[in-house]
Amino acid sequence: MSKPVILTGLRANNDLHLGNYLGALLPIVEMQKKHAGEFQINLFVPDLHSFTTPIDHSKLYEQSLNNIRLFIAAGLNIKDENTFVYRQSFIPAHSELTVILNSFTYIGELKRMTQFKEKGEGQQSSVSAGLFDYPVLMAADILLYGAKYVPVGADQTQHVELARDIAERFNNKFGDIFILPEAEKQQIAFTESVDRLRIRDLLHPEKKMSKSDETGKGVIFLNDSPEVATKKIMSATTDSFGEIKYDRKERPGISNLMDILAALTNTPLDSIKQQYEGSTTYGDFKADVAKSVANFLTTFQANLARVDDGQTLYKITQSEKQMNDVANQTLLKVQKVVGLRV
Ligand code: AMP
Repeated sequence: MSKPVILTGLRANNDLHLGNYLGALLPIVEMQKKHAGEFQINLFVPDLHSFTTPIDHSKLYEQSLNNIRLFIAAGLNIKDENTFVYRQSFIPAHSELTVILNSFTYIGELKRMTQFKEKGEGQQSSVSAGLFDYPVLMAADILLYGAKYVPVGADQTQHVELARDIAERFNNKFGDIFILPEAEKQQIAFTESVDRLRIRDLLHPEKKMSKSDETGKGVIFLNDSPEVATKKIMSATTDSFGEIKYDRKERPGISNLMDILAALTNTPLDSIKQQYEGSTTYGDFKADVAKSVANFLTTFQANLARVDDGQTLYKITQSEKQMNDVANQTLLKVQKVVGLRV
């Protein structure tokens, strides 16, 4: 277990969509393929983070397991012995370390976090202490395993940087307890080496595809039937230029569809551009995109139905056993230096 650790998580929420698949699930699976020999990969479901925003609690347990099934359907190899798949709440050290780190984190730092500012002030009428404290729990997620790389979206880089600050502050006071995650620049370089796409809403391509879309008409959910998905693609907003051209700024709708087609057919974007740019028949192009989405969903849903639950649960419980050992070792070091244990 001396390999450097890459740590990544995906929240268990309702209805993951094509954006989550292309922007999170697939890049993680590809990262495993690329790096499994050289790194240890910790893929976890941050279930304790789930209720920092409103959720249906009756579904959380099942959804956490389903998240892992989705990764397997997307190609994650759970037989790989350098990959650990676990649920955050099954490793109590995450919560314990959070409580300790809370006393080494300043309110001013947490107030500056963009996610808190946006979600807290903009979208939620009442803000929970859980949302405010989210970055400290995230610091515990990272520091317990000495993770070096934490590939995250742009909205989370600030949290990784904060984890680093907290760890540095703690180490300055108590000695070399935590391994620091790499600094922002290296994190960004690493994250960018993992090809993450930004998929846009089909009806409102000026914003990203997101499950918070009320109608669901601009979103391809991973459990949409191929027929429903086909209709959504055929009704996608494009533009009135009358000629297909890739231009994310001026023509976000058509560019988004080209991105989707390239990703799902595993074709370089340049080839897609060559094939379709200049064409004036948007309908034919959309039909090709719709076909690729329908094919993808058919295959993905068949893979998901084939995921072996026994094997999956075995992997999860084994990983949780092993990661409890690792996390508890780090926690004990911390407990000793702060005076809780001898
Ligand atoms: P969320 O549940 O919205 O926080 O998203 C979870 C993960 O999916 C994050 O890593 C996001 O970067 C990724 N993701 C969400 N929406 C999109 C999108 N429209 N395009 C690409 N990636 C996305």
